[in-house]
Amino acid sequence: MADGSNTSSTTEMFSAVRALDTGIKNHAAWLKALHETLVCNEQHANESDYRDDAHRHCKFGYWFYNEVQPVIRSNGLYERIESLHHEMHDHARELLLKKQDKQNIETALYNKFINEALTFKLEVRNLQFDLMNQVCAVDQLTGAWNRHAMLYKLVQEQERAVRKSSELHICMLDIDNFKPINDQYGHPAGDQVLKDIARFFYISLRKYDSFFRYGGEEFICCMPEISSNEAFTAVERLRENLEKLQISLPSGETISVTASFGLAQVDLEAAIEEAIQNADHALLQAKAEGRNKVCVWRGE
Ligand code: GH3
Ligand code: MG
Ligand code: MG
Repeated sequence: MADGSNTSSTTEMFSAVRALDTGIKNHAAWLKALHETLVCNEQHANESDYRDDAHRHCKFGYWFYNEVQPVIRSNGLYERIESLHHEMHDHARELLLKKQDKQNIETALYNKFINEALTFKLEVRNLQFDLMNQVCAVDQLTGAWNRHAMLYKLVQEQERAVRKSSELHICMLDIDNFKPINDQYGHPAGDQVLKDIARFFYISLRKYDSFFRYGGEEFICCMPEISSNEAFTAVERLRENLEKLQISLPSGETISVTASFGLAQVDLEAAIEEAIQNADHALLQAKAEGRNKVCVWRGE
């Protein structure tokens, strides 16, 4: 799950997106210079384009192999872009050498090259979109998925549960007496509590679970492929362990918090909003019954 673990800051993401923009501009300038040589019989100025490792010496390549941001390196498109860029340079070298030797340039070779050059640019754009989507889908304070991303992801989980004929549960939780923490220790302390709680859930939930910030101090866990009994046991354990969590505030003081939980099984044939509402009802019951408690929605 890309949630509490999502520590890449917005600043890092934006800086990566900007660097990719520069990369695209450099690539366009390189492509123009190459065509000037091939079409207009200009002397080719970039000597490094004749080298075996030309892909490491163009402006894009230098940045890509030496300075690229970790958030790009860890993206699924990184290797695809790397190999496209490398192959494109290999074919560019072949074209340049043929031109230098005044040999005929076959259409097939040129087509291979230009397709790689254009697909390369497309994939760099896709990587930019991917990074922007990540920024838009993640709550910046806690690293949990935000509400904007939640409905989409919950519907995806519901569809997957239908395909696999498996059970799906969601759990809504709300921190107990959170306002007094803000009032007593200040807003930055409240923020620290929210961050630590998201981190706690990130560490405690299973790999296939997902975690969303629903509102201020309200979160939703989505738990696929788990029976109602197992889901209850898991949430009860989360509640108990959360109670034991020691949270260090910016002031140096340490506090602990509790939360109330509402658990609902998702009806795979109903709108996902209904399951959210049911979990919310169960949560209200947990609050009414004294807080620090797990209640299960059992239907009206
Ligand atoms: P209950 O046990 O009934 O849930 O009581 P509560 O105090 O937790 O609930 P209430 O709804 O009265 O207060 C929620 C508080 O959460 C009020 C709001 O200022 C605070 N809050 C919401 N978002 C943030 C945030 O991002 N940071 C901080 N520090 N506080 C927030
Ligand atoms: Mg609340
Ligand atoms: Mg609360």
